[in-house]
Amino acid sequence: MPPRQKLLHLCVLLLAFAGLIAGTSLLAYRLSLAMGLAELQVTGRHRLDLYASSLEREIDKYAYFSTTLGLERDVLQLLVSPQPALADQVNRYLEQLNERAGTLAIYVLDARGLVVASSNWRRPDSYLGEDLSFRPYFRQALETGSGRIFGIGTTRGEPGYYLASALGGAQGTLGVAVVKVGLQQLEQSWATVEAPALVADENGVVILASVPDWKFTTLQPLDPATRLAFDQTQQYNRRALAPLGVVELERLEHGARLVRLPRVGPERVSMFPVAGKFLAQTQALPGTPWNITVFSQQEEVRGMAASRATLAGVGAAFLCILALMLNERRRHLKDRLAAREALQQAHDELERKVAERTADLSAANLQLQAEVAERTRAERTLRAAQDELVQAGKLAVIGQLATGIAHELNQPLAALRTLSGNARKFLARGDQPTADGNLARIAELVDRMGRLTGQLKSFARKSSGRPQAVPLRRAIDNALFLLEPRCQRAGVVIDIELAPPELQAWCDANRLEQVLVNLVGNALDAMAGQPTPRLDISAGQRGERIELQVRDRGPGLADEARSHLFEPFFTTKEAGSGLGLGLAISAGIVADFGGSLSGDNHPEGGAVFTLDLPIAPEPGHE
Ligand code: ADP
Repeated sequence: MPPRQKLLHLCVLLLAFAGLIAGTSLLAYRLSLAMGLAELQVTGRHRLDLYASSLEREIDKYAYFSTTLGLERDVLQLLVSPQPALADQVNRYLEQLNERAGTLAIYVLDARGLVVASSNWRRPDSYLGEDLSFRPYFRQALETGSGRIFGIGTTRGEPGYYLASALGGAQGTLGVAVVKVGLQQLEQSWATVEAPALVADENGVVILASVPDWKFTTLQPLDPATRLAFDQTQQYNRRALAPLGVVELERLEHGARLVRLPRVGPERVSMFPVAGKFLAQTQALPGTPWNITVFSQQEEVRGMAASRATLAGVGAAFLCILALMLNERRRHLKDRLAAREALQQAHDELERKVAERTADLSAANLQLQAEVAERTRAERTLRAAQDELVQAGKLAVIGQLATGIAHELNQPLAALRTLSGNARKFLARGDQPTADGNLARIAELVDRMGRLTGQLKSFARKSSGRPQAVPLRRAIDNALFLLEPRCQRAGVVIDIELAPPELQAWCDANRLEQVLVNLVGNALDAMAGQPTPRLDISAGQRGERIELQVRDRGPGLADEARSHLFEPFFTTKEAGSGLGLGLAISAGIVADFGGSLSGDNHPEGGAVFTLDLPIAPEPGHE
């Protein structure tokens, strides 16, 4: 992938991951918030029930006071015929009752609304004689038998809950008994609330609240007409009744609302926060026209949702990283697989090529082998041909030797005849010793003849040509022995000088003899007819080589002969005397042993042929 595209791919991936993480966090936040709010609603509902029932119990505790006053004979009597003594008695009774109950005031009004007896009869600002007919609880009690209303006292400006009951009998309503319960008494039931709560009366005025500053505020702003009515009834004793300032944010199921509570006044030490976002739940307070509202704080839920959202985000990020890692690993594996495949392919290709080359090589090898075999065959054929040639050359030499040898044999044969004839005669004469002498001579002659034929036979055999250590002296002697008859006839003086005498050449004895027979034969030919023929054979060591020279005292080599000396069929001899193969074959034999043969004229006359041969290795070094 090109780097630019890779970068783009990475950006898209990162954006997708960011979106995924944000989406997951948001979803987790929403879900957690919804769950938290649902839980909060349940808790709030429980609190609402709890606070409402405790308040109801508290109110009920006082409600029966006013009702039971209707059963008091003195009270009813006072209403029927008011008398100061009776009034005084009832006043004291009410005073005691008020003290016992811990209420603000208990008093009795006649049918016109005038206070005829009151628990606070002793105080200068006593209700006695006051006309309270304008108070709504009085009218309610006259109309319905009982009246319950929250209000602020006109005399002392003390807020309280007025519980009124009509008093009367068969003759009709005689008056109204009123118990005024202070807010503190009612609030006692809320001593242990754990969330802000308030009670609003039918006008939406907060009359009870766990937060003192909330009291005598309104949940809804009051219109001027309502305000005027309140002024007339002096229900709230002309309090300012400022709005509490609850802002509704959202309506939820089951009448719950999300609201924002304002910060009111200087913050007081409170067990719970009283400003911010809250879940508000309201229900009617049984037996009263009031509503109770409980505020459950949302911060905790929101905090929890936020931390869950963070957790979900972290989880999503972790999953993204995991996915990235897995993807990276998958890609890595894929790359490795691809690399392995490529390697395998390269390997296969290599193997194929190797197989091809091997096949080529085998073919070439086979061809080479065939060529080598062919060459070996050709060499063998050549070698065989050479061997044949050598043998042919040797036979030619033997042919030349034949005359001399035949002559050599004839002489002893003639001598044998004479000696044997004489021996018979000496035996017949009885000359035993002379006969013995003849027979001994015969035996000598036979031995010599046997040696000559033996030597000839040995020379004629076809040798293998394999090199071995050959004592030079013996080879020279054998060659000269074959030519002895010729030498004797020509009267050649032969001088042999070997230094050291035990020199050994590394060659084939039979073939060396053949070469020497050739060289000596040619020398004898060259010296034919000379009065003092002389032959010098000398050999010496030059390092690892042996140099052997055959020198004659003939006319030497003619110029033409020097340049064609070793060419086959070059001869200056008459037809029938030489074939011109002797030197050519001899040179070939010497070259076969790793040596050389050369011919030249000696400065003092005559021809000299030099044989260069490898020396035989010491016996221990072979
Ligand atoms: P061939 O003896 O059959 O002629 P060689 O190859 O032995 O064949 O000799 C070739 C020729 O070299 C001879 O014909 C002769 O002319 C010359 N030659 C060889 N040896 C001698 C020698 N010792 N002195 C003079 N000429 C020689």
